[in-house]
Parts: sequence; C-alpha cells; structure tokens
Amino acid sequence: LVELAGIRKSFGLVEVLKGVDLSVEEGRVVALIGRSGSGKSTLLRIINGLERPTDGVVTVDGERADGRESERELKALRLKVGMVFQQFNLFPHLSAGGNVMLSLKVVKKMGTAEAEAVAREMLAKVGLADRFDHTPDQLSGGQQQRVAIARALAMRPRVLLCDEITSALDPELVAEVLAVVRRLAEEGMTLVMVTHEMRFAREVCDELVFMHQGRIHERGAPAELFAAQRTPELAAFIGGH
Ligand code: ATP
Ligand code: MG
Repeated sequence: LVELAGIRKSFGLVEVLKGVDLSVEEGRVVALIGRSGSGKSTLLRIINGLERPTDGVVTVDGERADGRESERELKALRLKVGMVFQQFNLFPHLSAGGNVMLSLKVVKKMGTAEAEAVAREMLAKVGLADRFDHTPDQLSGGQQQRVAIARALAMRPRVLLCDEITSALDPELVAEVLAVVRRLAEEGMTLVMVTHEMRFAREVCDELVFMHQGRIHERGAPAELFAAQRTPELAAFIGGH
C-alpha cells in the first residue's frame, strides 16, 4: 500500500534521509523508532506529501510522487494519507464536531448534514459521541487527541500516520489514546507510527523499524528485535527505554 524507494532528503547541505526503502502492506502496523534527529518525522512527512524527497519515489495506493509530480497528483496522494501529530492542532474556536467537519466541507465539498453525520460517526468511533459541541479548551488532552484522530479518519485515508501522538499527554491520558489506536489496528487500518511506547509497539505492531542517522538500521518483528538486537545502536536504544 505504501512504497518508499530510495528516499533521500537534504535540508541545505545536511542529508537527513540517506536512502530509505520501506514497504507497508495493507492492514499492517509499523512502528518507527529511533533517537531524536534520526529522521522519523521527516520520513512521515514525505509519505503524506508535506515534504518532498530530494530523491526517490513515494507511492501510496497507486498515487506516486517523485518530486516531479503535478500539484494535482500531490493532492491525490495527500487524500490517501491521514496524519496525527504530537500537538493536536485543533482549531480552538471550533467545536469537536466542527473540527472534524471542516475538511469534509472544504476538501471533500460535503454538505453540512452529511459532514455532520460523518463527524458524529467518527467521534463515536473514538469514544467521544457526547463531546460533539465541546470546544478544545473544554476537553482533556487525551480527548483532544482523539478528536484529532477522528478528524483524520473522517477523510477515509488508506493509511494513518501517527507522529508521537502521546508524547504531549500527561501519563494518565496516554492509555485512552493508545486504546483507540489499538482498536484501529484490530479493525485492519494500515498504520505507520512514530512512538516511544515500547510496550505498545511490542504488543500491537507487526513490524519495528529502527532509524539511525537517516537510514533504516534494523527492522523486524517486534518480538524478535526486543529479544535480540543485531546492532549495538538498537541494543542501546532499547536498553534506554
Ligand atoms: P525527534 O525524535 O526529535 O522528533 P526525528 O527522528 O523525528 O526526531 P526529524 O524531525 O525527522 O527527526 O529530523 C531529522 C533531522 O532533520 C534533524 O537533524 C532536524 O534538525 C533536521 N530537519 C528536520 N526538518 C528540517 C527543516 N525543515 N529544515 C532543516 N532541518 C530540518
Ligand atoms: Mg520527530
């Protein structure tokens, strides 16, 4: 479903991705791990077309981007990919429902009634059916993050990218957000997530991808990588978590 081939990315003279190949099949759940600065967020941003690779090809569900694609092709790719960030980025003046409805109306040109129906369905999916009219400041961090997940899901993406979505949350709120992600995984959603939640990665993910200095340094089934590491870098990383 997601194919990355020979992805390189430079910012000025600094090459932060040095040739990444990654293929994610439909329904798979992949955890991206690695030290700060190893290129995890940049890789996610390349998958959803927020960032253009300096070299290499990204394909998502048949939509291809290689740096020479048109704006229309890039739009098509972006529509296939949902993304949730560490900071929830909700519009503070809109209700939970309004936040979920916005892209449906603006990007998908849905009418208000239809958009509202979808928003209610998606908020129910993340356990917030009764929070439709609440604004972000009336919601906990965990609830806000679940609204952000509902907003991403409402666009019916083929793959959902999560970039450290629990890192900004108080510890007691992490579980409710991870429970939503776990349910999505069980329902067969294709997920690529950057996470520091090693227990979650071990329990829920099909594949662990360890990034180091802009490359995939080690990858494999979580059970195997946790049991034994081939490289000292992964051993040190897992030892520190
Ligand atoms: P973290 O765990 O801290 O989130 P990360 O693995 O997500 O780290 P990236 O955010 O992908 O790392 O950054 C990789 C490298 O690219 C870092 O050295 C970062 O400073 C650099 N970088 C990222 N975005 C830009 C940018 N827009 N301009 C210049 N350098 C950038
Ligand atoms: Mg990051």
